[in-house]
Amino acid sequence: MKIGNLVGLVGWRGMVGSVLMDRMQSEGDFDHIEPVFFSTSNAGGQAPTQAKNETTLKDAFDIAALRKCDIIISAQGGDYTTEVYPKLRAAGWTGHWIDAASTLRMKDDAIIVLDPVNLPVIQKALAQGGKNWIGGNCTVSCMLMGVGALHKAGLVEWMTSMTYQAASGGGAQHMRELLTQFGTLSAEVKSLLDDPKSAILEIDRLVLAKQQALSPAETANFGVPLGGSLIPWIDKDLGVGKQSDEPGWGTSREEWKGGAETNKILGQGLAFGTAETPVDGLCVRVGAMRCHSQALTFKLRKNVPSADVEALLAADNPWVKVIPNTREASLQGLTPVAVTGTLDIAVGRIRKLAMGPEYVGAFTIGDQLLWGAAEPLRRMLRILLAQ
Ligand code: NAP
Repeated sequence: MKIGNLVGLVGWRGMVGSVLMDRMQSEGDFDHIEPVFFSTSNAGGQAPTQAKNETTLKDAFDIAALRKCDIIISAQGGDYTTEVYPKLRAAGWTGHWIDAASTLRMKDDAIIVLDPVNLPVIQKALAQGGKNWIGGNCTVSCMLMGVGALHKAGLVEWMTSMTYQAASGGGAQHMRELLTQFGTLSAEVKSLLDDPKSAILEIDRLVLAKQQALSPAETANFGVPLGGSLIPWIDKDLGVGKQSDEPGWGTSREEWKGGAETNKILGQGLAFGTAETPVDGLCVRVGAMRCHSQALTFKLRKNVPSADVEALLAADNPWVKVIPNTREASLQGLTPVAVTGTLDIAVGRIRKLAMGPEYVGAFTIGDQLLWGAAEPLRRMLRILLAQ
């Protein structure tokens, strides 16, 4: 049956939401829908310019108003989903729920959407009456967009992903905090920096002293300084209460998502009656503004020449951009600065590792607000509208 086109948009002015609106505008998505804009903070206010018949903002907690929508897209966040989604279903709403938050991701009746990688999984769920379409963890989605071809070809025995995740993964306030810290540190040594003859160890000492003296207000979002430093832990500690050496001990929630979501997106693992591919690694926050980067190690099931690995990845989807494994190409094309704001998923540093011919290293970078958040949601909307 054709799905109606009354689409509720919640969380459209947040960070993911703004990128989503931009992309929907660029791709002409608003031509196909009748949008209704919701707000948790400004009901009754003016809806954005994309509004058509409904030009005021609706209350995002008004279940009766939400119930009228055929499809709801939320980029509002996990707390909102936790509060509103069960009430909406309990009120008998049978529409399609598309969400950026992780709340429903691992539920049995939810599909993690990343259609260039898992369109068959999405189509099967649609045929079976699926209604919940959840965007994946940003790092996982970007990684699979880049190297999903190796998984789909059944070549991966296991992989590790060591991440270098940008400040923007935490939201707008986190980006501001990082930049403010850079400014504070730079200001601390300005006169010494201006003097080319000043002693570098003195600059270093003053920067470190300032980093260590940053106030709780200056580190409110990350908890510790990120400017000029890094943080090797992202999200909650899932290992609390476990003994060392027990599975899961010392694992962060972000790291757990790497394995759990990768397998769910690929439609494999216990829930699908098949074996899981082990995927694990350490997740690290670095002082990049936008774009999550990852150093990958693959243990392949057989020796595949590096050139064949490159060709397989490049042919997988139009957004993979294989960067030749040379110093110059890596410097020019394989950095967050080069990739940010584009839909490209750069994959480079592809080479055999010293452990043996089945071991392949790679480095991948994706804009986590695009393929890691907004893009799979708007593409799912188009898939629904095309039914
Ligand atoms: P966000 O920027 O904090 O936006 C969430 C909501 O905050 C907005 O919809 C808005 O709601 C409200 N808000 C309050 N003050 C605001 C201001 N000054 N400017 C804009 N909005 C403001 O959160 P987000 O980073 O977009 O994340 C939304 C969800 O996507 C989360 O579940 C997150 O985990 C997930 N996600 C994020 C990323 C990422 O890279 N950031 C990637 C993948 C998934 P009202 O308009 O109703 O007030």
